[in-house]
Amino acid sequence: MEIAKLERIFRQELSSLYDEEEASSLFVWCFEAITNKNKVHYLLNKSNKLDENQQKRLLEILDRLKTGEPVQYILGEALFYGLKFQVNREVLIPRPETEELVEWILSMKQTKEGTRILDIGTGSGCIAVALKKHLPMADVSGLDIALSSLEMARRNAACNHAEVHFFQSDILYPDFNDGSYQLIVSNPPYITPAEEKDMHVNVLAYEPWRALFVPAHDPLLFYKAITDFACKRLTDGGFLFFEINDAYAEELIQLLEKHNFIDIQLKKDIHNNDRFIYGRKPMVVRPVDGIE
Ligand code: GLN
Repeated sequence: MEIAKLERIFRQELSSLYDEEEASSLFVWCFEAITNKNKVHYLLNKSNKLDENQQKRLLEILDRLKTGEPVQYILGEALFYGLKFQVNREVLIPRPETEELVEWILSMKQTKEGTRILDIGTGSGCIAVALKKHLPMADVSGLDIALSSLEMARRNAACNHAEVHFFQSDILYPDFNDGSYQLIVSNPPYITPAEEKDMHVNVLAYEPWRALFVPAHDPLLFYKAITDFACKRLTDGGFLFFEINDAYAEELIQLLEKHNFIDIQLKKDIHNNDRFIYGRKPMVVRPVDGIE
C-alpha cells in the first residue's frame, strides 16, 4: 500500500478522535518510528509503497490509536524539551506546558550553576533530566512515591546521559534528610474530580490517576505539603516553582504569602491559562556574632 494511502486511512479511521491535522501528525510520528526514516523522507516518498511488515505494524498501531490510547504509550516514547523520554502507563506523558516550566526556570539567571535541585513527583523524570542537561553543574535529584516511576526516570536519565539521583519518598510524609536545596520544583497532581468530565478519553483511560487527581475536599493537598517542606529545606533565598491548576491560582498565591515567600509570580502558559507559580524563600538577616 502507498504511504499516502495509509495516511488517508489514518485520517479517516481516527476522525472521531482527532482532527485531520492531528491524525496526519500521528501518522508521521508512527511512520518515523516504524521505518526509522524522518519526515523529509516521508514527504518526498508519499507515492512509494511500504513493505508488508511495516504496513502491518502501522495498521496495528492504528487499531490501538482508535481505542484512544496515546501514541506515546504505543510507541513507548515522548519528546520533552528536545529530549527523548521513554514512557509507559506508570508515568504521565510529559506535557508541552511542563516544557514551559523548565524554560522559565532556566531563564532565571540566578538558577544557573552550582545549584542543588529537587523535583518532587518526578514521574518519567522529564523535569529533572531536562534541568540537569541544561545545568550540568547542578546537583539534581528527583523523588516519587512510585517505584515503577522511579525505574522509568532512572532509565531516562541513563538514556539522556544525565546524572540525576532518584529516590522514593511520599512527600505527604517526607522521611528523608539529605540537606537543603536551592531550588525545589514540582508538577504535582492537581486535577479535581469535578474536572474529570472535561478530560479527553486518552488521558482518563490510560494515564495514571495518582499522577493527575487530587481529592475534592483538599485540592491543594500536595502544594501545602511541598510548601511546608520547602520552608524547612530550601536555603534562604531559594526558589520554589510549581505547575498549577489555573482554577487555584489565587489560593496558591495566598498559600505562598502565608508562608512568607517573596517575589511571588504567576505565569500563563501558551493557552493563556495561569499555569505556573514561583516564589522565593526570604533571606534571613541573622545577628552577627559578638554584636549585642
Ligand atoms: N497538565 C496535566 C493535564 O492536563 C495534569 C498534570 C498534573 O496533574 N500535574 O492532564
